[in-house]
Amino acid sequence: MKDICTATLNELKAMLEEGAVTSAEVIRALKSAYQADSQQPLPLQGFIEFFDDAEELAAKADAMRKEGKAANMPLLGLPFAVKDNISMRGRLCTCCSKILEGYVAPYNATVIDRLISAGAIPIGRTNMDEFAMGSSTEYSVYGPSRNPIDRMLTPGGSSGGSAAAVAGFQVPFALGTETGGSVRLPASYCGIYGLKPTYGAISRYGVVAFGSSLDQVGLFARTVDDIGLGLAVTGGRDAHDETSADQCFNSCTKLVPYSDGELKKIRIALPVEFTKTQGLDADVSAVFEKFCAWFSAQGITVEPVSIPVLESAIAMYYVIALSEAASNLARFDGIRYGLRKDTGKGYDELYCATRSEGFGKEVKRRIITGNYVLSHHFSGDCYESALRVRNRMEKEVGEVLGQYDFIFCPTAPTPAFKLGERVDNPMAMYLSDLFTTFVNLAHIPALSVPAGTAQDGRPIGMQIVGAKFSEEKILRLAKTLEAVRV
Ligand code: GLN
Repeated sequence: MKDICTATLNELKAMLEEGAVTSAEVIRALKSAYQADSQQPLPLQGFIEFFDDAEELAAKADAMRKEGKAANMPLLGLPFAVKDNISMRGRLCTCCSKILEGYVAPYNATVIDRLISAGAIPIGRTNMDEFAMGSSTEYSVYGPSRNPIDRMLTPGGSSGGSAAAVAGFQVPFALGTETGGSVRLPASYCGIYGLKPTYGAISRYGVVAFGSSLDQVGLFARTVDDIGLGLAVTGGRDAHDETSADQCFNSCTKLVPYSDGELKKIRIALPVEFTKTQGLDADVSAVFEKFCAWFSAQGITVEPVSIPVLESAIAMYYVIALSEAASNLARFDGIRYGLRKDTGKGYDELYCATRSEGFGKEVKRRIITGNYVLSHHFSGDCYESALRVRNRMEKEVGEVLGQYDFIFCPTAPTPAFKLGERVDNPMAMYLSDLFTTFVNLAHIPALSVPAGTAQDGRPIGMQIVGAKFSEEKILRLAKTLEAVRV
């Protein structure tokens, strides 16, 4: 029998269906793996909490299976992990921030409801950069997560806990969130798959907002099929989220690799703004070239294209994301959620004391910058011009995706960096997102695929980017690549 911890979501599903294992055994095995790792001198710390009731829920799932109730529950008894900014009724949801210390979510996010209705079991909360602001998971009140490939490295961020738990074999499937690359970047650093779906593909209801016009729930797994299964269950219209789209992803549970004939008709654009960029790591460049050569050998059309607006992606992203963050985080005032520091001198003092003590350095930096950008003096100049360029981005990238099936480029300019290396250098940290933010700005989907390794063994990811709601096409190409191991 396949080892439980290294089994994929689809393999565990088959094992449960055959009766080869029980859900209780699955949860116990994952819990032991997590507990054993926590005793290590340098624990992964992907999970910040492993739920005590997971085994009990698994026993219930096993009972339901015995009673023949599995038919409409495609994930019955299967485990998943949840980034700490997604609400689960009755459980802590802290965004890894002191300001939400002790905050218990009063309701389930839609994505959680859907997974639970499908029978899946949430097994724990995962670590993240405070309020999803960061690229290394070091800005967490719980301390950093570590990369399972090399524990001196960051797993990436902000959903680094979810990525570390999946890559470290403590769970086969996990939820993350993306505002500017927070699923793809850690997926790439940890050598797993990370999907950022089209804006609106998965409901944001119950997800703590960072940059609402960019935020999206994303998925982590070790195989393409597991991502497909997760998307089929979680995606689609939700009455609680007006930006959610009426799309069905059920076909993503049966992904077929492209045939040789189909491959010959595919057209891929390679944006020169990214592939010729200064500072692109030589190993990343070599992996990229290897893929391009493989594409050409299959008869796929691969053409360099110039999309000049991509060069302003990172600047635009930070103007928009910080402005929206400053507005969204205004709700954490010490009255409604979590921490309260009442000095007895009235509301203004209470807000000030709570926010000063509750927010970490990076979050404060962003609130201050965001409010500055939005201030009367700047709003016309800065925020609105960023929105204008963003419209151009959506249009120009959309046009390229009208002529080509995919855009292909590295997920990040370098492989995972060392813990501590960029933590005091916000500019270096922000530049980790050089290749990911345009996808969020353009509201399109992208998948980071594990593509190779650097000479020292650090994983390298490439991203397949497609037009809005082309997730199935993207996953089929990824499945083709997975099968041949380019
Ligand atoms: N690393 C980027 C940032 O710090 C993206 C974060 C995210 O996608 N949540 O804003």
